[in-house]
Amino acid sequence: MPPQTRFHLNFVGDVMLGRLIDQLLPTHIHCPEEARHIDNFVSCHPELREYGSKSPWGNTLPIFRSADLNLINLETSATTHPKPWPNKVFNYRMHPANIECLKEARISYVSLANNHTLDFSEAGLLETVRTIKGSGIAFAGAGETRDEAYRPAVLSIQGGSDEKFTAHVYSASDHPSDWSKVPNFHFIDYSSSTRSHLRSLLKSSTAQPNLKVFSVHWGPNHSWVPSDDIRSLAHFLVDECEVDIVHGHSSHHIQGAEVYKGRLIIYGCGDFVDDYAVDAEFRNDLSAVWRVAVEKARDNGKKLRVSRLEVFPSRIKHFQTHLLDKDDRDHKWVRSRFSELSKAFGTKIQDESGEDGQIVAEVP
Ligand SMILES: [Zn+2]
Repeated sequence: MPPQTRFHLNFVGDVMLGRLIDQLLPTHIHCPEEARHIDNFVSCHPELREYGSKSPWGNTLPIFRSADLNLINLETSATTHPKPWPNKVFNYRMHPANIECLKEARISYVSLANNHTLDFSEAGLLETVRTIKGSGIAFAGAGETRDEAYRPAVLSIQGGSDEKFTAHVYSASDHPSDWSKVPNFHFIDYSSSTRSHLRSLLKSSTAQPNLKVFSVHWGPNHSWVPSDDIRSLAHFLVDECEVDIVHGHSSHHIQGAEVYKGRLIIYGCGDFVDDYAVDAEFRNDLSAVWRVAVEKARDNGKKLRVSRLEVFPSRIKHFQTHLLDKDDRDHKWVRSRFSELSKAFGTKIQDESGEDGQIVAEVP
C-alpha cells in the first residue's frame, strides 16, 4: 500500500461538558439546583436516562473516529474543587471521571486557554491539567507551570510505516483580563508586546514541526465579524510566526473562514456541545465539524500544506450533537451564513456539497 500523503484533522469549537451535562452523566459533581433542573427535564425526555460518555457526541462519533487528529476547545474545568473563582457569572466544572467522554471521540488535543478552565480557582485548574495528563490527551494554553501553559502540544501524524509528521499546537485566550495575572494561563492581547512574545515563542523551537496550529479563544460573544484587531493578529500569526492553521473559537456561533497566503484561518468554530439556551438570531445551537485536509507539499517534503476545508454542519439538541442532513433547514442556514461570512474574506465556497453533504471551501 502506498504511504498516506493526505491527512484529516477535525477542529471543533467549545465543548462544554460541565453543569447540566455533568449532572446527566452517571458520575457527576452533586449540585442540588442543577440536579433538580435535570430531574424535571428527564421526566419529559426519559431517553436521557441512558445518557452516558458517548451521548454528548450524538451521531458524530464516526467522523471523529476516522480522522487523523481531533482538536477541541474544552470550555470547562474538570475538577471537584469547590471554591469558585470569585465574582464570575458562570463557573463550569465537570467531574474528572467524565474525561472519558473525550476518549470516546478519540480527542487528540484540548485547548485550555479559555474563560472557564480557572472557574474553580487555581486548584481547580491544576486538577484539570492533571486529569488531562492522566488521560493521555495533549493540551496547551494552561498548565502546572508557565512553561507548560505556553509551550505547544506536540501531536504525531502517522504517514507510511516509517514516516511520521509532527504538528505543534499553541493555545491562548484574550479574556478574562483577570487571568492575565495567572502565570500558568496563556493570556494574550493585541499589543505589540504580545506580538513580540508570540514571535519569539512560536519561532524559538529548534525542531520545526511539519504543521503549526494556533488555537485561540478570542473576541466578544455574538459578533458575526471579527474585529480589525483579531484579523490583523491572525495575519500576523501567518506572516511572522509561520502558523498554518488558526483555530478560532469563543463567539458561541460560527464565523467565516479565510484562506490567507495558502494558510487557513477559521475565525470562529462555534459551540459544538453545551447546555446553553439558544439565541434565535445567532443560533448558538448550530455549529460544525471543521475537517481540514493537509497534504505533503510537493516542493518541500517536510511541510504539510492545507488543501481543503470541509464543513459538516451540526446541531445541539437535548445535550447531544448531531450532524445535519443536507436537506435539513438548519444545514441550509449554516451553508448560507458561512458562505456569506467567508465571502467577505474572499473565500470561495463550492456550489456543490460533498458526498456526505459537507460544505466545501476552496483552498487555492
Ligand atoms: Zn468561552
